[in-house]
Amino acid sequence: MEKVIVVGAGLSGATIARLLAESGKDVIVVDKRENIGGNIYDYYDKNGILVQAYGPHVFHTNDEEVFEFLSKFTEWNEYKHKVVARVRKDKYVPVPFNLTSLYSLFPLSKALCIEEALKTEVGEGNQIPILELRKSENPLLREFADFVYKYIFYIYTMKQWGCKPEQLGQTIMGRVPVKVSNDDGYFSDKYQVMPQKGFTQLISNILRHPRIKLKLKTDLKKEIALKDGQIYFGGRVLDGTLIYTGCVDELFDYKYGVLPYRSLKFKFQTLKQSSFQPASVVNYTTSASYTRITEFTKFTCKPKDSTVIVKEYAVNHKKGRNIPYYPVTTGRNKVDYDKYEQEAKNYKNLYLLGRLGTYRYLNMDQAVKNAINLFAKIEGEEFDMSTIPALKKKD
Ligand SMILES: Cc1cc2nc3c(=O)[nH]c(=O)nc-3n(C[C@H](O)[C@H](O)[C@H](O)COP(=O)(O)OP(=O)(O)OC[C@H]3O[C@@H](n4cnc5c(N)ncnc54)[C@H](O)[C@@H]3O)c2cc1C
Repeated sequence: MEKVIVVGAGLSGATIARLLAESGKDVIVVDKRENIGGNIYDYYDKNGILVQAYGPHVFHTNDEEVFEFLSKFTEWNEYKHKVVARVRKDKYVPVPFNLTSLYSLFPLSKALCIEEALKTEVGEGNQIPILELRKSENPLLREFADFVYKYIFYIYTMKQWGCKPEQLGQTIMGRVPVKVSNDDGYFSDKYQVMPQKGFTQLISNILRHPRIKLKLKTDLKKEIALKDGQIYFGGRVLDGTLIYTGCVDELFDYKYGVLPYRSLKFKFQTLKQSSFQPASVVNYTTSASYTRITEFTKFTCKPKDSTVIVKEYAVNHKKGRNIPYYPVTTGRNKVDYDKYEQEAKNYKNLYLLGRLGTYRYLNMDQAVKNAINLFAKIEGEEFDMSTIPALKKKD
């Protein structure tokens, strides 16, 4: 039986491991951490509050296949995510910036004129990236866009990325629009849900299969070597497949340089009060050294007499010292990644996957989708995907 080693027990690794196990392969999933789940790992604290150890995670998708796959392993709670920005003391406005935010921060007569101009230029119910609005030919809209840029984006982005919003490019800034509506939802996807028993339980259910063996607290990089198109595992040529969801630059011993990431520092606090802030996530867009505060009891938890918050600080990633979170795909970094990707093609039984393996920011649904697509690629065009129970459509 062909052996598959999957490096990483996060969402990408768990998904591909499950699909391969269901197609009859023996799969070993290895993770250097002591827990499964990668960055979506969560746990119940002593007060029964579900805490997400690596920052706030909300599941959202428009992808039916992804949603059906995950729904085989969890029940869901409906959850419409809302985020507010704290622009000054006791002044919280919805983000993405919408008409409610507009009327909350501008005098009525001016807000009316801006609303009118937005409806004419962008269209009622539509949205526009802030950097695009700053280029408007209408001076009133430019002035408005500059205000939003200054009070909602600039400081936040500087804290988050350590650079100006303009330096980030469309993929990141395109995600932060101004909405010409009162819709205060953070996402607009068809499915916006949280797994009823948390993300760790979801991953545990995905990994529970007789053909999957799990090995935690094991850094696979220390046990493998890549040379001349061959993968060596424990000193011998690997007779099987390696799927790598760890850092690709580390896998190739940084031969094309270190790929930069932003990292995060989290400060958790349990407070003896039932509520701390007006929304589950509050972005600090004009003050504070942290970027945002998340209050976990505001997700889907029933009210309790205590609450847990986490303050999130963005810092540069330092190899071996902190966790790489957000790939910085600007400038020549993407070019360096392409060299690694090209190098990986010299190894016919090596596949890169996931946020770190493909050096891309991936939402959870994209991580699952990419794993499903990789599975289809490994099995080949002739393979009938509908024979895999986890991919079967509901009748
Ligand atoms: C702060 C933050 C908030 C987010 N919020 C959302 C959200 O609200 N909604 C959403 O859809 N997405 C969100 N995401 C994205 C989400 O976290 C990712 O889509 C998801 O975690 C990707 O899973 P992955 O398996 O690719 O990577 P990871 O979760 O990073 O898993 C990789 C695993 O590989 C292991 N590993 C690495 N190298 C080795 C090695 N050499 N040996 C053994 N093991 C190794 C690591 O320990 C890790 O467990 C957020 C991301 C961040 C950083």
